[in-house]
Amino acid sequence: MAERIAVLGAGPMGLAVAYQLARDGHHPVVFEADDRVGGMTASFDFSGLKIERYYHFHCISDAGFLTMLDELGLAGHMKWTETKMGYWYGKRLQPWGNPVALLKFKGLGLVAKLRYGLHAFLSTKRKDWRPLDNVEATGWIRRWVGAEAYRVLWKRLFDYKFYDYSDNLSAAWIWSRIRRIGNSRYNLFREKLGYLDGGSDTLLLGMKTWIESHGGEIRLGTPVQKVVIENGAVAGLQTAAGMEVFDKVVSTIPLPFVPRLIPDLPADILARFSALKNIAVVCVIAKLRKPVTENFWLNINDDDMDIPGLVEYTNLRPLPEHVVYVPFYMPGEHPKYGDTDQVFTDKVKRYLKEINPDLMDDDFIDIRANRYRYAQPICPPAYLDSIPQRKLPVEGLWAADTSHYYPEDRGISESIDFGRMLAREVTA
Ligand SMILES: Cc1cc2nc3c(=O)[nH]c(=O)nc-3n(C[C@H](O)[C@H](O)[C@H](O)COP(=O)(O)OP(=O)(O)OC[C@H]3O[C@@H](n4cnc5c(N)ncnc54)[C@H](O)[C@@H]3O)c2cc1C
Repeated sequence: MAERIAVLGAGPMGLAVAYQLARDGHHPVVFEADDRVGGMTASFDFSGLKIERYYHFHCISDAGFLTMLDELGLAGHMKWTETKMGYWYGKRLQPWGNPVALLKFKGLGLVAKLRYGLHAFLSTKRKDWRPLDNVEATGWIRRWVGAEAYRVLWKRLFDYKFYDYSDNLSAAWIWSRIRRIGNSRYNLFREKLGYLDGGSDTLLLGMKTWIESHGGEIRLGTPVQKVVIENGAVAGLQTAAGMEVFDKVVSTIPLPFVPRLIPDLPADILARFSALKNIAVVCVIAKLRKPVTENFWLNINDDDMDIPGLVEYTNLRPLPEHVVYVPFYMPGEHPKYGDTDQVFTDKVKRYLKEINPDLMDDDFIDIRANRYRYAQPICPPAYLDSIPQRKLPVEGLWAADTSHYYPEDRGISESIDFGRMLAREVTA
């Protein structure tokens, strides 16, 4: 008799697990708490514009994502374009992201520039990340670039994302982020980033349709309350509708939810899940009549702004109006996370008007804030050893999230690759 396999979460990873299971002849049932697929990649109705709650761009190295598009016949929706980067520093907008911009940058000595450039360049060439797993990131960067370049170009990026955790992060994890962006280029001078026509929904709905038309089932608005375990093996799932029997369960929901959902795991394993820390995000999205700058990505180092940067999405993917995302990252337990949405949207209006004084109040067509509590794991040195094993010590039970592809940063492509691998493992 065919096995009954449940998948928890319909973000890119859960959908990829179900897609691969269906491809291999199984009939997975996906449970998703939200009323739509996508998780962090999901879209919302922004006063008539269907757009992601959080910005997404793609790099030429996103192999898992590009393969999936090919398999679904969606590769023609992928668009590549040359994007610009900027740096708001010293209360002025400066070009960024290539060697000439670095040399011309105002506010940094020549030696500091050369050290910064060398570190970025060599990071893109490095292949072996293992020696960096146990190394603290800010010290690693300071040793390479020196105190001046660290203060001007790096410190804010750490302080306004990781706050109290800034001085205890894995260098391997930070390195993988430098490498991903650094390698997505036409050449040393021109950055090459991609977007999907129709946004991430093009992929998500493509996967959903494929799964449903090949024997899988996706149940939206159905949060799983408990994974039921009997005699050391999975017995089924508890939802508002009652208990349903399954032989195997693959969870792709954020790991901090695991102790609540699977309280019958051994205490030492529950403790490992409970010890994991995550960054939350309050991501403001603004629809404007005018552009803020010509850049897609703008790094920010300004004492009057508590953000490390912003993303002007329509400088990557053209839309009828200008769309800017301003992410406020912070550890989920930080008091700022309790501030109302209006606190964040008011700040964004002020910041954007300072960066571009031509912007007037009536240029803001709409502005909102979206929140995701578990937006990114915080990866301290030796993180590899602290991630709980994906195969739990219960027959038929697996749990993984974006932490499991460390040192890679969370990404759609990585979640897809990992989800497909997991599906094969579960049925091996
Ligand atoms: C601000 C921001 C910017 C980003 N930018 C990029 C980018 O430019 N490029 C890129 O590739 N990636 C980017 N990402 C990352 C990308 O969105 C994630 O890597 C990806 O969505 C992770 O997918 P996932 O399926 O692993 O997890 P998630 O998307 O977190 O999915 C988990 C799912 O589990 C569901 N769930 C939770 N509890 C339950 C329950 N009890 N029962 C059932 N379901 C439950 C959730 O509702 C959710 O749908 C960004 C993310 C953010 C937040």
